[in-house]
Amino acid sequence: MIETKQLRFFGMRDLDKIEQLKKLGEEELFSIKVAAHVLPFRTNNYVVEELINWDNVPDDPMFKLTFVNKNMLLPEHYDKIYRAIKSGLPKDKISAVANEIRYDLNPHPAGQLTANVPLFEGEVVRGIQHKYRETALIFPSGGQTCHAYCTFCFRWAQFVGMNDLKFATDESKRFQKYLKAHKEITDVLFTGGDPMIMGIKKLKAYIEPLLSPEFDHIKNIRIGTKSISYWPYKYVTDKESDDLLRFFEKIVSSGKHLAIMAHFNHWVELSTDVAQEAIRRIRNTGAEIRSQSPLIKFINDDSEIWAKMWREQVKLGIIPYYFFVERDTGAKHYFAVPLFKAFNIYRNAYKQVSGLMRTVRGPSMSATPGKVAIEGIAEIYGEKVFVLNFLQARNPAWVKRPFFAAFDETATWLDDLTPAFGADKFFYEDELEKMLGYKSERTTPEAVHRAG
Ligand SMILES: *Cc1c(COP(=O)(O)O)cnc(C)c1O
Ligand code: SF4
Repeated sequence: MIETKQLRFFGMRDLDKIEQLKKLGEEELFSIKVAAHVLPFRTNNYVVEELINWDNVPDDPMFKLTFVNKNMLLPEHYDKIYRAIKSGLPKDKISAVANEIRYDLNPHPAGQLTANVPLFEGEVVRGIQHKYRETALIFPSGGQTCHAYCTFCFRWAQFVGMNDLKFATDESKRFQKYLKAHKEITDVLFTGGDPMIMGIKKLKAYIEPLLSPEFDHIKNIRIGTKSISYWPYKYVTDKESDDLLRFFEKIVSSGKHLAIMAHFNHWVELSTDVAQEAIRRIRNTGAEIRSQSPLIKFINDDSEIWAKMWREQVKLGIIPYYFFVERDTGAKHYFAVPLFKAFNIYRNAYKQVSGLMRTVRGPSMSATPGKVAIEGIAEIYGEKVFVLNFLQARNPAWVKRPFFAAFDETATWLDDLTPAFGADKFFYEDELEKMLGYKSERTTPEAVHRAG
């Protein structure tokens, strides 16, 4: 029997209410408070009571996942906010300093507010991104927050109010007209934030219309969510749990595929009774659960963690899907893993599991031209290269056409790479430039957990 739990959020101002934190010295606790003035911080009672192993803090991966720390800021940034707080400035002055620092952190990786936002009847359609032919992302306005915040999240800027939901849907739901008119779209992916933060009424308002005949071309409904990790009670003991599951059943019985694109960073998130019960109940509705995660230093930068996580997932009926490279915003300097290491971690995990787990693809970078995977590191006529490949591309013709970059031990993202064999550009770059109307610096906005 799983006992009901009431969701309790802890934000920056509630740090003193978390008894477990007293284990840390006063200085360390204060440094968390300082960092939380700049980086978004939110955790909850489930994460604190059931996921974090407090005997292992501060190194515990689940602690690192939601608690910010001093080193997630660059030293000069930390000193700046530390001094502002220590000198007893009024709140609004401290916030102003915090905002100055945030602007230095690449809050909107290239074109976040504009790229991939489509037009309909000559006007921008808010709340939708349509980059790959078959799949449209929808950002419901009610789903732009989360049950807890991941310290590495590249969407961090919106949680501190920096882009005030500029790309979330508005009330007019024009995105539905767009979907109706675009018959090439087979997949709709609800993303955020976390759409599962919404109550059932809102969720239905988004999904139910898609079950009617004018949306017959939409075959697959996907929901990107970290709720199974951060608030599995959603599916088990919350007031709306049963109604929610019934709604999932309704989607499935309408003949559409319902895919929960679950974000799991570590097998610990799969280990609690309530998480396993949530997974069992969701799967009983006929929905499939697929999993994705970025590789994050200090949290899961070890092939054994991944291999164990994929094994657990398959055991619980979850299909491993994407292995992402962490993107270049926020505390990137802290969390980034060089590409060659990312590849080795992926490979060493992949090669030790059975084929049922090898549905996972990666390491994948969601960059401007598409999702670029590192297929391998090879030596070709004496030159060491990364073998790259598009898993998804702005132009579907680029997919599965291997290309090569000079090996570079320090590279952490596609734009750190240069073409191999003396070429001056990658094969897609001229065409991409034409498509975008500008030379891109190769990064764009999409989702880490939901889309990557
Ligand atoms: C990853 C992604 C998708 C979904 O791609 P799949 O490979 O079909 O899972 C859709 N849109 C964007 C912008 C993405 O980054
Ligand atoms: S990674 Fe997902 S769950 Fe985590 S904070 Fe970002 S949007 Fe929310």
